[in-house]
Amino acid sequence: MRILNIDRITMKYGGLFALKDVWFEVKNEEIVSLIGPNGAGKTTLFNIVSGIIRPNSGRIIFGQDGRDIVGLKPDRITHLGIARTFQNIRLFPNLTSLDNVKIGCHCRTKTNFLGAILRTPSSVEEEQYITQVGMKYLSFVGLQDAKDKLASNLSYGDQRRLEIARALATEPILLLLDEPCAGMNPAETKGLMRLIERIREQEITILLIEHDMKVVMGISDRVVVLDYGIKIAEGKPEEIQKDKRVIEAYLGKDIDYA
Ligand code: ATP
Repeated sequence: MRILNIDRITMKYGGLFALKDVWFEVKNEEIVSLIGPNGAGKTTLFNIVSGIIRPNSGRIIFGQDGRDIVGLKPDRITHLGIARTFQNIRLFPNLTSLDNVKIGCHCRTKTNFLGAILRTPSSVEEEQYITQVGMKYLSFVGLQDAKDKLASNLSYGDQRRLEIARALATEPILLLLDEPCAGMNPAETKGLMRLIERIREQEITILLIEHDMKVVMGISDRVVVLDYGIKIAEGKPEEIQKDKRVIEAYLGKDIDYA
């Protein structure tokens, strides 16, 4: 079943097309990677899907009821079931790991501002519940022992995991991961690949931007390739590795995918 339909999205900055008529679909519980050279338009597409920017034209059809989410605010899109991480990690550095994840949980809670200030019984109960849920996602990414550590004191790899935990705490249907392996060492990268597979096992669909071809070719069901804002190829990893246009534009000839 189709969960996301990127339908002829065009985004222009001045005279430059960051994206031009880009079209592809993502099916339920797939891992799809979006690859291409620097400036190809990958992050622009993530910004459009998550509601940060509005495209010049095109539709983003999401979910079972197939609604167009273009023009919706980011918090509404998160509520509908799309979560993301960022290329440049965006955590609250002076909050603990657990508090960072709890912020993700708050998009699914009912307590309003006044209830929280007055500490009504239902708000206290909800806060306890959020703590439990926050711990569940911290454990899921392997950071349970770092719950009281400030986010700024975590290693780079752990900060990336924490960002993923916070995104998962919004209980997404679709998770957008923007270069999750950037800056990781080989052992951390391997661990992250396994984590992404475990996320998919939770019936969450994943759209991934990644430059590490071992990761892309190792975990993707399908790969979409952008170049100068245009989709130049789409297919299974083994098809993309052999695609002449992709080799010329991006991959080169001598890549070791193993
Ligand atoms: P990278 O792999 O380096 O992250 P990318 O594929 O994510 O690259 P984008 O960041 O989406 O590429 O950029 C696509 C194009 O749009 C680039 O030419 C970029 O300079 C341009 N662009 C992106 N954001 C803006 C903006 N706010 N104003 C003007 N041009 C922009």
